[in-house]
Amino acid sequence: MGRVGKLTTTHGEVTTPTLMPVINPSDVILTPAEMRQEFGAELVITNAYLTLRHFGEEAAKLKIHGILNYDGPVMTDSGGYQILRYGGVEVSPEEIVRYQDAIAPDIATILDVPTGIHVTKKRAAETVRVTLERARQAVKLRSNPDVMWCGPVQGGLFSDLVEESARETGKLDYQLHAIGSPVELLEGYRYVELVDLVMAAKQNLPLQRPVHLFGAGHPMMLALAVVMGCDLFDSAAYVLYARDERYLTSEGTLHLEELSCFPCECPVCVSTSPEKLRGTPDEERVKLLAKHNLHVTFGELRRIRQAIVEGRLWEHVQFRCRAHPRLLEGFRELLKYGDFIERFDPVTKPSAFYYSGEESGRRPEVLRHARRLEDRYEPPTRPILAIMPALEREPQELEQERTHLVRIVPPFGVIPEELDEVYPLRQFQELGEPDPEQIRTAAEALSRYLQRYRERYEQVLLFNDKRKWGNLLVKTCTPVKEKLKVIQL
Ligand SMILES: [Zn+2]
Repeated sequence: MGRVGKLTTTHGEVTTPTLMPVINPSDVILTPAEMRQEFGAELVITNAYLTLRHFGEEAAKLKIHGILNYDGPVMTDSGGYQILRYGGVEVSPEEIVRYQDAIAPDIATILDVPTGIHVTKKRAAETVRVTLERARQAVKLRSNPDVMWCGPVQGGLFSDLVEESARETGKLDYQLHAIGSPVELLEGYRYVELVDLVMAAKQNLPLQRPVHLFGAGHPMMLALAVVMGCDLFDSAAYVLYARDERYLTSEGTLHLEELSCFPCECPVCVSTSPEKLRGTPDEERVKLLAKHNLHVTFGELRRIRQAIVEGRLWEHVQFRCRAHPRLLEGFRELLKYGDFIERFDPVTKPSAFYYSGEESGRRPEVLRHARRLEDRYEPPTRPILAIMPALEREPQELEQERTHLVRIVPPFGVIPEELDEVYPLRQFQELGEPDPEQIRTAAEALSRYLQRYRERYEQVLLFNDKRKWGNLLVKTCTPVKEKLKVIQL
């Protein structure tokens, strides 16, 4: 579901997935122009509510681009986050829609009511209802054709509410959607719930519209979010963390205090040392740490994009999710949505399938092969079935004309000889000694195959590799034991 996209805005094109650095209009640490020049940021985000509070009608004259002194794409958030943090904002939903039309960002957001994660179901349903009502009303109020609008999805931890919110908002005239309420889940490393939240939304939103995951921007979780089909991220983390002397990496967060050298290739880390940085005056230190944090985040996004182009995103997520047990749990939760994800996975890819841990056995390619074999496959009419483990060389003595050869290959299961050139059945790198779990799954696939087609064959030849398979395949062939001949390799 991860994708590289082009988002065309009034002020230029944006390649997704991307991070929108948060710019506080009244307290700028790094200007949007610096963001673009130094880090390759293509889209920045600022807050329309804070802009209204600080600049009022002046911003309507100068437009948001004038206030930020920037001519690239800008998104505005509406103040929903301030509601979540401080319980309310002093502006009406109509006012904030009109104000955003007046200050003319490239992308604007309606004033939603964030659900959060500490509410009863009744209250959560109320936030969904009010957000939806405001989304409908905003469609009628909008007047500036240069502004694209983002329709937020709410519902928090209640999947049925998230589904309803996504389905109903998706029917309205919005160009993008945002998934609300992940911030507290991210702060608490609650990735299992995050995955359920995002998937509840993604399965019900129009898939061609970009999706913004509100408040997410830590490099360690970006790959997991992208593989679920999130396209836009925003984060103030680069500067909030910097103020706290926290140092972002793609594997987690470190503290300046505990660093003896910088595990990073960015210009900041190459030009200084943790010791020197600790002795640098506050303001300068925050700026340098913020720069490192942005470098590492954009670097991770570039790696993710390249992985998508190469067809290796799944493998990249597998590596990243090894960084923390909670992330790995989140990834395993995502495997439960395999059937849905498989529909979006390209049938062929420019790269080989690398087995890189037990989650590889549940990759979309593996699910697809098993499903298609059940739904679409019909074996040729030949009297002898020859079963070969893995990719062992075919024995010479087989009577080619009368024999149908199938291979038992973990993690794919049964591969009939006619299909073995189909991607990725030949284009994959497995372990010399497959994991026991994979061996079991492959044997189960053989068992299903035999149940279905055993009547077709007069004889079954099993070439058994005892060192790897023990007696498992012989046992699996019990239902055809009268026709079975076992040849030990
Ligand atoms: Zn660095």
